[in-house]
Amino acid sequence: MRLRVCHLYPDLLNLYGDRGNVLVLCRRAAWRGIRVELEAVSLGECVRFTDYDLVFVGGGADLEQGLVARDLSRKGPYLIEAAQAGVVILSICGGYQLLGRFYRTREGREIPGIGLFDIHTEAGEKRLKGNVLLEADPELVAEMRRINPGAPATLVGYENHSGRTFLGSGVRPLGRLLKGYGNNGGDSGEGAWIKNAFGTYLHGPLLSKNPHFADLFICRALSRRYGEVSLAPLDDSLELQAHEVAKNRLLKSRQGKI
Ligand code: GLN
Repeated sequence: MRLRVCHLYPDLLNLYGDRGNVLVLCRRAAWRGIRVELEAVSLGECVRFTDYDLVFVGGGADLEQGLVARDLSRKGPYLIEAAQAGVVILSICGGYQLLGRFYRTREGREIPGIGLFDIHTEAGEKRLKGNVLLEADPELVAEMRRINPGAPATLVGYENHSGRTFLGSGVRPLGRLLKGYGNNGGDSGEGAWIKNAFGTYLHGPLLSKNPHFADLFICRALSRRYGEVSLAPLDDSLELQAHEVAKNRLLKSRQGKI
């Protein structure tokens, strides 16, 4: 089996270790004997996103978001086509915002997104930052447990954004916040997903402390071409310990109060 991964704008959108997510995906696939092909795609480069199994877009500050927005508007229809064809998309923070309809900065400048998600984002006064703990959507938990029976029902990560994201109807959050601010600090939702497209405010890198979530992406990405796949179990004791430590520390903290 081959896993074809596209890392979109790695030179411009890469905050708080976002690239680590790509490393985690590639390494966990390789440990199962899956051949990984990783390609970086940036400004001015045209590709057929349907040729990949998974596309990753990291986070970036307003400046970098402005730089990629124009290029992304040209790539947008092809990315949407790929999402409709079942290619898995994982986007973080600034990248997540750009897959929505728009991001309005503090100065009132509107950075257009591609509208893959029916969401929009407006910058707020206070930055929403710190560690985050959420209870994942039960459907995702069930899927993660089919892949790894001992998978936790929680996700942990780190957020740092001024954008407040509001979800349109038909877009589900990744889960319900137990700690942290998530999409907008108001409705207890974090992230968004629709079919195989995912967005989240969680940096971390997200997948290193959530190996169960990483495997969900690998399984979904492979199943488009190979049908239902089962992944050989890995020794995740260290990763799950990191998850537990982060979770327990957060449960005792006062994180996530505006
Ligand atoms: N510029 C965006 C915000 O602050 C995204 C930041 C990020 O990707 N961490 O909302």
